[in-house]
Amino acid sequence: MKFTSTRRNIALNSAETIVQGISSEGGLLVPDSFPAIDSAEIAAYSEKSYQEIANAIFSRYLSDCFSQEDIGNIVSTAYGSQFDAKEIAPVVNIGGYHVLELWHGPTSAFKDMALQALPTLLTKAASKIGETREILVLVATSGDTGKAALEGFADIPKTKIGVYYPRDGVSKVQKLQMTTQEGKNVFVMGVNGNFDDAQTGVKRIFSDAGLREKLGGSVRLSSANSINFGRLLPQVAYYFYAYSRMARSGAVEVGDKLNFCVPTGNFGNILAGYYAKRMGLPINRLICASNRNNILTDFFTTGVYDANREFHTTASPSMDILISSNLERMLFEACGRDVHEVQKCMEALKGHNRYEVGEAMKKGLSELYSAGWCSEPETRATIAETFKERGYLLDPHTAVAVKVYGDYRRDSGDATPTVVVSTASPFKFAEDVLGAVAPEKAGLSGFEAVDALCETTGQRAPARIASLRDKKETHTESCEVKDMQRALVAWLNT
Ligand SMILES: *Cc1c(COP(=O)(O)O)cnc(C)c1O
Repeated sequence: MKFTSTRRNIALNSAETIVQGISSEGGLLVPDSFPAIDSAEIAAYSEKSYQEIANAIFSRYLSDCFSQEDIGNIVSTAYGSQFDAKEIAPVVNIGGYHVLELWHGPTSAFKDMALQALPTLLTKAASKIGETREILVLVATSGDTGKAALEGFADIPKTKIGVYYPRDGVSKVQKLQMTTQEGKNVFVMGVNGNFDDAQTGVKRIFSDAGLREKLGGSVRLSSANSINFGRLLPQVAYYFYAYSRMARSGAVEVGDKLNFCVPTGNFGNILAGYYAKRMGLPINRLICASNRNNILTDFFTTGVYDANREFHTTASPSMDILISSNLERMLFEACGRDVHEVQKCMEALKGHNRYEVGEAMKKGLSELYSAGWCSEPETRATIAETFKERGYLLDPHTAVAVKVYGDYRRDSGDATPTVVVSTASPFKFAEDVLGAVAPEKAGLSGFEAVDALCETTGQRAPARIASLRDKKETHTESCEVKDMQRALVAWLNT
């Protein structure tokens, strides 16, 4: 297995791919082919554990550089007792469709599925390519990624982790999760600005040659954001796992097709589903669910990707995104791996915030994907209805997917068994979820909302969220956007 770029023909091994994160000309790194998993192996997954399935999938992409022992180690470190479900990613039948719960990890959101694996993957990869410097991972976060990266990298030898978040732009629980983070190698900084400001600041740090030089001798800068192939790969595994559990329970016969409906922001999660399909997993349709920032719905409908539009803040903040970076990998496949075609689109996006794909690509994409979006009132109504009718509590991101799936099912008549991918615990967004299921209690915030949600629903908050109230806030600093680099350097020098 070699890896190439979406914008240039190159050949990297898996360790270089993970350490580098992005190709030098700005393209995304992708496998040069999709390894096949045959139906006998898929059938056998019904008897295998999450860890065994992850091991099989990881091996297909990593065995050029990583030994079986390395891969076993990465998987067992990533998917252990830090998950509060033995199955790691339970598949729950809630009547009419199934839900794949990806939020049983330490931070109660699906980012853990990849970020519990990335630190070991990254440090192993670095040693494979002879990188001896310490790795400094920098992240700008709109909430979930930052905490998941902190939790993954805290006290991992030979790494440091720095996270910038918009000071007033994350939920109370999300903020507390970050400000109470323990670990000797962690840096957490609130930024006086929104997520885009924080992201721009981090990009500036990455491209600052002076800083690189200053750090050069002892530190290598790296990123943990979702364009790193090391984040994509762990996500492919849970599509196979979900299928295996559907087969085990008799919801499908092995070989029959499944739909997956995925709440989408940066297009990483749903793209992993596409990779699984290319590897041979029987997937019928991938349903792309967006919130009010419905740029992807428009793209799949019209073939025009147009980011010249208003940005909306919603109850599903991890999907408040106008530039879905991982879509570039899908474009690459949809145009038959034509690097010039991808370059053209990405240049247009950079210059005009907009590109349009040709008829052939549009048709190819429409054979794979359906797309829809859900407004804010519809998100609240879906949470309320699903709890009332099925006794199942949805977080706002998952609610978007449930609504979009309902519309798809009604409009298409497609009765293929479907898995809705659930990306966060409802307790992580307790304020909004409470407002939906118990409008008379709307307005409570922080732990008052968490407690009221427990009381109203009779459900328990994940222990990691409940225990936050006893933790000490040690990272309460914030800075102006222009001072982001200075704050980092000051921390590195202490
Ligand atoms: C990150 C995130 C998403 C979006 O996932 P992408 O891979 O960016 O499409 C959806 N829901 C939650 C809770 C998230 O944290």
